[in-house]
Amino acid sequence: MNDPDRHNAENQNLVAACGLYCGACGIYIATQANDTHKILQYAMLLKQSYEETLCDGCAAERKSLYCSKMCTFIDCKKSKAVDLCADCNEFPCQALLEFKSKMPHRIEIIESQYRMKETGVENWLVEMKQHFSCPQCNTVNSAYHLTCRKCGNMPSCNFVLEHDHEIRQYLSE
Ligand code: SF4
Ligand code: SF4
Ligand SMILES: [Zn+2]
Repeated sequence: MNDPDRHNAENQNLVAACGLYCGACGIYIATQANDTHKILQYAMLLKQSYEETLCDGCAAERKSLYCSKMCTFIDCKKSKAVDLCADCNEFPCQALLEFKSKMPHRIEIIESQYRMKETGVENWLVEMKQHFSCPQCNTVNSAYHLTCRKCGNMPSCNFVLEHDHEIRQYLSE
């Protein structure tokens, strides 16, 4: 298929080892938009340099230091010889469940792993792009954009619509 949207959505770098969709990560979005102000904010929050913060996705060469340092899932999957956690006989393991419970943008990582196994990674990427896209203008938003970062539509996407309560509670803490 030659649809450029579909091609972008199928960027395999955006499949995070844990089951997150990197296309909806605030750091990824800021990097791709060359949003220097936001990148600096993330750099300060994560206590790393501007350069170390830039990210093109979990499987990309340029990856945010924070995710490279803290992620245990890539090595774990290698040691279990699985491409997807859903193929592991410990799935969903305690480490994944704990990771999921800490922040609302991780709420769907277990079902995402099941979905990748069921429909294939490429289809899942297309679905995720849709899931995080603004219903008005199609801009991909992060879980923490309650309103669309481009047109201001609320909710910014289906993910935010479904998890509005958890996201608002987390942002108010
Ligand atoms: S910072 Fe982490 S979650 Fe965000 S795009 Fe990079 S690897 Fe993915
Ligand atoms: S599900 Fe299996 S491969 Fe994935 S992180 Fe847990 S133990 Fe490792
Ligand atoms: Zn919009």
